[in-house]
Amino acid sequence: MQIRHEDLNLLNRDLNNEITSPEDEHEVLWVDTSDKNASFAFVRLTDAHVRKIRSTRWFEGSSVVTHNLQSWLDSSELQSDASTIRGVRSRQSVVVPSFALDRYHPLSQVNRYLTSISSLSSVSVFDIGISHEGRGIKAVQIRNNPTSSDYIWIDGCTHAREWITVATALFIIDTIISENVKQNFLIVPIINVDGYEYTWNTDRLWRKNRRPYTASTFAVSEMPDRCNGVDLNRNYDVNFGGEGGSANPCSFLYEGPTPFSEPEVKAVSELLWKFKNRIKLSISLHSFNQLWACPYAYTKSSSIHYSHHMDVLRDIQNAVYKTNGVKYQIGPLGQSLYVGSGFMMDWIYTKLGVTNSYLCELRDKGVYGFLLPADQIMPTALETWNGISAAIRKLF
Ligand SMILES: [Zn+2]
Repeated sequence: MQIRHEDLNLLNRDLNNEITSPEDEHEVLWVDTSDKNASFAFVRLTDAHVRKIRSTRWFEGSSVVTHNLQSWLDSSELQSDASTIRGVRSRQSVVVPSFALDRYHPLSQVNRYLTSISSLSSVSVFDIGISHEGRGIKAVQIRNNPTSSDYIWIDGCTHAREWITVATALFIIDTIISENVKQNFLIVPIINVDGYEYTWNTDRLWRKNRRPYTASTFAVSEMPDRCNGVDLNRNYDVNFGGEGGSANPCSFLYEGPTPFSEPEVKAVSELLWKFKNRIKLSISLHSFNQLWACPYAYTKSSSIHYSHHMDVLRDIQNAVYKTNGVKYQIGPLGQSLYVGSGFMMDWIYTKLGVTNSYLCELRDKGVYGFLLPADQIMPTALETWNGISAAIRKLF
C-alpha cells in the first residue's frame, strides 16, 4: 500500500494500538520522493489488515498498489534517478575477468566466483556449515600478511533481501586480492544462503531463513509463508528474547526457539569462536539506512567503549563521504535506528570480546530500500570499502 509519508507515524501508532499478534505486522518497504508536492511510503500489510484500517481517517491519502507484491515487482523495472547515483562506474572483476561486480548475482554465480578465487595461493574458500535446506555456507580466508595472526571479519546477507551486502562483500574481496591489501581477512558474503536463493526464486523481499517452525495458530497445510523462518540477527546469545524480537514464528522478527537454534547462526558463531582472540575488527553488512553503528543494539545505553567507537566511526564517516559525497549517520545502533536483541554485532562485542564490532546499513535512505538498483552497486561498494580502509588505518 502507498500512503502519504506524513501519515506514516499515524499509521504506525494506529497499527501498534491494534496489533494483538504478529499476523498484523506491517513493514515499511521504501519511500517515494519523486512527487514534488508529497512523498509516499510503501508499506506491506496483510489483506486482513487493509480491510481493518480502511475506515481510519488517514486512509484517504493512500491507495493499495498491488495485492500481489511479487508479481508487481517482477513487472516493474527500477532504475536510479541519475542524480541519486553519484560516482557511478562499472567494473568487471580483476581476479575473475568474466564476472561483473556491478550486477546482482544469484547464489550459483556467487559460488562460481568463490570457486574461481579459491585457486589463488593466499586465498582459501571453505564451507563453514550447511544451511537448513542443505546448502554450503562459504567463508573466504585471505592471508595477505602471514606474519600477523590478526584478522578482519566481514559478513553479508544475514537478511536475505539485502542484496547490496552480497555485491559489496564480493567487491571488497576482489579489491583485497587485486590490490594486495596487506591484512588478513575472513569474509562470509552470504550467511543466509537459503533465504538469498528464495529471494531470487520466489519472494524478492524475504528476510528470514527458511526453516519452518509450526505456528500453533495454523494447521500446517494452511500456514502462511511468512510463518516460516527465523530472523538470523535475533538468534545470537545476547539478551536473547529481549526487546526488538518476536517469539511468534509468523513475525519477520522471529528470534527462534533458543539461541543458536539456526544452523546458519551456529556455523558462523563457531567459526568466529575459533578466531576469538584474533579478530581485531568486525563489520556486519546490512541494508538499508546509510548508517554506521556500534554496540549496543539491545539497549539504548552506551557501552564503555562509546568514545572509542565514535572516534573510529567518525573516521569511517569522513572516508565514506569523501568518496561520493554521500552522508552516512553514525552512532550506537539502539540509539540510532531501533533496539534489537540477539544481534550478531552485540554478541561479537560482549561474548567474543572484540572491542571493534560494528554494523553498517548500506544505501539508501529508503527511496529504493532493499531494491537498490544495480547502478548503485559500485558507488556503494567503493564508499563502504573506503570506510573500512579508514578503520583499518586507525586500528592496525
Ligand atoms: Zn539486515
